[in-house]
This record gives sequence, C-alpha cells and structure tokens, in this order.
Amino acid sequence: MEQRLERRVKRERAARKQAEALLEDKSRMLFEANVRLEKLNSELENRVSERTRDLELARRQAIALSEKDQLTGLANRRSFLQQLEKMLLTTQEHGLNAAILALDLDHFKNINDTLGHHAGDALLIAIAQRLKNLIRDCDSVARLGGDEFAIICPITEDGFSVERLADRVVQTLERPVFFEGKSLEVSCSIGIAMAPTDGNCPTDLQRYADIALYCTKERGRGAWTFFEPSMGEWVEERKRLASNLRVGLDRDEIEVWYQPIVDLKSGKTVGVETLSRWFQPDFGLVGPETFIPIAEETALIYDLGDIVLNKACRDMKPWLDNGISRFSVNLSPKQLKDRHLVARVAEALARHQVPANKLCLEVTESMFLWDQEAAKQRLEELSDLGVRIALDDFGTGFSNLSQLRFLPIDYLKIDRSFVCDIDHDQRALALVKAVFAISNGMSIRSIAEGVETAEQAEILSLIGGDLAQGYHYAKPMPFNEFEAFLKGNLLRAS
Ligand SMILES: [Mg+2]
Repeated sequence: MEQRLERRVKRERAARKQAEALLEDKSRMLFEANVRLEKLNSELENRVSERTRDLELARRQAIALSEKDQLTGLANRRSFLQQLEKMLLTTQEHGLNAAILALDLDHFKNINDTLGHHAGDALLIAIAQRLKNLIRDCDSVARLGGDEFAIICPITEDGFSVERLADRVVQTLERPVFFEGKSLEVSCSIGIAMAPTDGNCPTDLQRYADIALYCTKERGRGAWTFFEPSMGEWVEERKRLASNLRVGLDRDEIEVWYQPIVDLKSGKTVGVETLSRWFQPDFGLVGPETFIPIAEETALIYDLGDIVLNKACRDMKPWLDNGISRFSVNLSPKQLKDRHLVARVAEALARHQVPANKLCLEVTESMFLWDQEAAKQRLEELSDLGVRIALDDFGTGFSNLSQLRFLPIDYLKIDRSFVCDIDHDQRALALVKAVFAISNGMSIRSIAEGVETAEQAEILSLIGGDLAQGYHYAKPMPFNEFEAFLKGNLLRAS
C-alpha cells in the first residue's frame, strides 16, 4: 500500500515538473513572439514614416515642376499669373505702382528653322539666365512659352526706373550667344503695362502689355513701348481691317496700278512695276503699307498675290509685244515661303498665255531672315521656270553681299533713300556708283528707284545707270491712265 502511494506521488511530481517545463517553454515562446512583434511594429512604423517623407518630397517636387518652365527653370505661365496677383496685392497695400513687361524675341523662329531646335533651346536657356541676372530680388521673370517671356516689378522708391530696366533688357539680349562655334543673334521687343494706371486686373494688365508689345513690333522691333488706351483701338481697327480685307478680296476691291520703268539712255518706258491698291467702301483708298502687313498676318496674302498676279498678266499681255519688255510683281516674304508658289505662278502665266521670261518677281532682302537655303531653292525653282528675279530695296535691309554670288538675281533695285540724295551728297553718289559697279560686274541689271528730278536722272545715266523709275517719269496709276501714258510715251520715243 505504502509502495503504491509512493509511486503515485512520484508520478504526480514528474507530471508537475513536465507541466512546469511546458509552461516555461510556452512563456518563453510568448516572450520571443512579443519581441518579434515589437520589432516588426517598429520596422513598420519606420517604413510608414519613410514612405510619408518620400511622398511629401514628391508632392513638393511635383508642385515645383508644375510652376516651372522645364527648359529654362524660370516660372511658367501658371505661376507667373499667381505671382502677378500676389505682387499686385502687395503693391496696392503699400501704395506702389507695378510694371508688367511682355517680352518677345524677334525672328526667333529663324534660329530654329536654320540651325535646329538644339540651337534654339541653347539660346532660350542663355536668355533666361541673362534675364535672371538683370532683375532684382523683388522682381519675377517667367517664360510664358515659345520665345515669350515676362517680367513683373514693383516700382519701389529707391530710384528704380522701368525705362532703364527695359533699355538694359533690350541691350543685353542683343549680345550674341555662342553655341557650337556659331554666334546666335536675336533682338527683343517689349510692351509695358503699369498698375494701377492701366488697371489692376492681372489678365487685363497682361493683355495690355501684349498690345503694347504688338505695337513695338509694328514700329520696328528691338525696342520697348508703354501701353496707351488708344493702342487697344488701333488693334481693334486692324482686326476690323482684316475682316474687311477678306470681304474686299471676294468683292474684287483690289485694283492693280502700274508705274513705268524707264531706260535711262533713251527715256523710253520698257518695263512696269505692278502695285496693288485697295478701294474699301468705308475707308476709301487703303495703301499697301497698311493692308499688305494685315494680309501677311492672316493667310490672305496668298489670295491677294494670286489676284494681283492674274490681273497684271491680263493687263500686260497686249503690251508685251508693244514696247513693254517685262513687268514686275512684288512678292512678300510669306508668299516666297509658300510651297505652292511656283505652281501658282506657272498657272497664272499659262492662263493668260504670258511667256515666263516677261515676268519679273521682286523680292526683298528680308527673305534672308527666313531659311536662306530654302529661299535660294525657291528662287531657283522660279528662275528655272524662266521668271526673272529682282532684289527690291537693295541696301536697306539685311543685305549679305555674298548672297548675290549664289542667288539667281537678274535685277538690283537701288532704294530711293540712296537715289534721292545723289545730286547733293557725294557719299550717296559714291554708294550708288558702287552698286552700279557691282551690278555691271555681275551682269545684273540695275533699276534706280525714287527718281524725282531731271538732274537725278541725268547723273544716274552719266554714272552708268541702266533703268529707273520714280515721280520724275510717272507716279503709279490705274490701268487706263497707264495705257494713255504708254501711248504718248511710245509716240514720243518713236
Ligand atoms: Mg518693288
């Protein structure tokens, strides 16, 4: 009995020990699991806070990017408007004026067209840097897109002058930028609007600065202009003219006038320049200096060009075997860029049965501002057709004398600004003589424009001039007057 009891106690002890060991094991496992869980928890917390930091950084970067112009790093249009709004509030609060300068590079497209986008981008980056260097800490500069920039500045009372800033911007941007061994050159035009003088609404002020910029470009580029309320009317007027011109072309309101081109030796009319005139019922006679730029801005120049060319072919056809050896028609730079130009010319000549060598197309030096290679190719296509080419207003624009060697030029038209002074200015005379020497040496015929007196005509003839036109002979006139003139002239000369 006693032995049985002893065995039982032993068994129970062993079982308790076993249970205690098991309990110890379990609590150790629980402890270890707890430690692991805590570690995981803190890892998770770390990852969450890291991720939150990354997201915040990304969010800030995204905001910065959405406010910045990717190419130049300047503010973009969106943030420019926000900054303008902020600045206007601040300046109003402090009773200060603010200026908004709208800036545009002149002929920037030519850089992209002729040297490629890499060169254009390099130029924009350099210009952005120069603008940043020119402004004060309290000013802002933005790239609004393409070659458009803007500056906003408060007019502080420390002697700051917006005129001086505009001058410095114009001068600084004119300095060439060097890129891959090439010198890139542009100029810039600026329009300035003032707050609160011109208004306090950011979008209005931006529009006024744009209108002033438009006027600067019209007046000759590379300069700046303050907005004036009358400019708005002027812009509206041009819009009205553009829509009237569209109607005018349909209603056949464009007339073609003719100015004789005379042989300096014989005094005989041998050629004629065709000039367009617009008789607008509301405005009366509108000069080409007004409506040609409007036609160029819109696509109306192509229709206008067709009308003038066709009317000239029609009117001149009977005279081509009757004393007139050639007639000239002016081409605007935009027409020269038209890839259908050669076909348009060929079609007009065929329709009126005019031989191609009877037509002379006058182009100006500003075509050199376009892609020179493309301009040369277009002139060669016209020349291959048999058409003659005259370089108009020679010496007043962007003459690159070496171009004369490579372009198919048949006539050089010497600008009136040289011709009008030859009877009293030795230097003007020397210039005209030099142009005659060039043209004679290259077998290019010369036409002196703007001859107003018998004395000028005589001098031109004495120094080797070839052809001339100007009020001394006749003003441009409508076709019926021109016919009467021609009959008289041919009669006198025979
Ligand atoms: Mg001309």
